[in-house]
Amino acid sequence: MAHVVTVLPQPFLACDGALRVHCIPADQDNLVWVAQCVETGEAVIVDGPPDEQMLAAIDALDANITAVWNTHTHPDHIGINVLLAQKGRLASLAVVASKGANLAIPGLTRAVDDGDTVQVGNVTAKVWRTDGHQNGHITYVFDDVIFCGDTLFAGGCGFLFDGPPEAMHNSLMRLAGLPPETRICCAHEYTTDNLAYAAFIEPGNEALMARVADVTERRALGECVVPSTIGMEQATNPFLRPGSPEIMAAMRTAGLLTESNQPADVFTAVRNYKNMGPHKGV
Ligand SMILES: [Zn+2]
Repeated sequence: MAHVVTVLPQPFLACDGALRVHCIPADQDNLVWVAQCVETGEAVIVDGPPDEQMLAAIDALDANITAVWNTHTHPDHIGINVLLAQKGRLASLAVVASKGANLAIPGLTRAVDDGDTVQVGNVTAKVWRTDGHQNGHITYVFDDVIFCGDTLFAGGCGFLFDGPPEAMHNSLMRLAGLPPETRICCAHEYTTDNLAYAAFIEPGNEALMARVADVTERRALGECVVPSTIGMEQATNPFLRPGSPEIMAAMRTAGLLTESNQPADVFTAVRNYKNMGPHKGV
């Protein structure tokens, strides 16, 4: 099936021009990221499915790929490790993944944990543990851009395979504390569905409705609307907005929230309600 993104995303610069970030659409809705040190040309691939076309697009970049960084172990994230191994190309690369990952990572050369740092060329990122989608999930945090796998999405958040909800809530709140201009490179283009749900539960949010209009227009053209920014997500992503009176009221109406105003409880209700799909077909 064709990818939901049909317009090839343009690379952008981050970290005061020291890092070039390429977005490669893969499979149906995966977004594979290549982060490249501008000065040295060295680059890392962050996650990816076993997609030959994707690999050809990465090979066509003017980049010296030296590593694969995995955020977690789902097949559409470590599939690229498997594909590179099949081609005899993995052994020459560094493979970084979480110490807390619950499955073997093909080609693993370095297991990292919260607080560790990783390097691409001359540019450094911090490793944050961001549990919730999967135990051991990690996010690579550069100065003004993050690679957060399936934790925070544009307008949404990852499904809680492992949970518990409190873990994902804590991960998201930590990411939400990054500077508002921080760009969010997540691993899927799910924005349209995420915003449909957001608008269903918080239609009075003007910033959200403006974003819906913008994203609807750009997605209709086949554009990728990722990366978003932390500031945009704080204003419009219901999973970062447990203090919104409108969202709390919607959760009470849905019968998913009783007296509690606790942010983790609101988050849990917002996540559970999305799983029920109330916004589909409206
Ligand atoms: Zn996943």
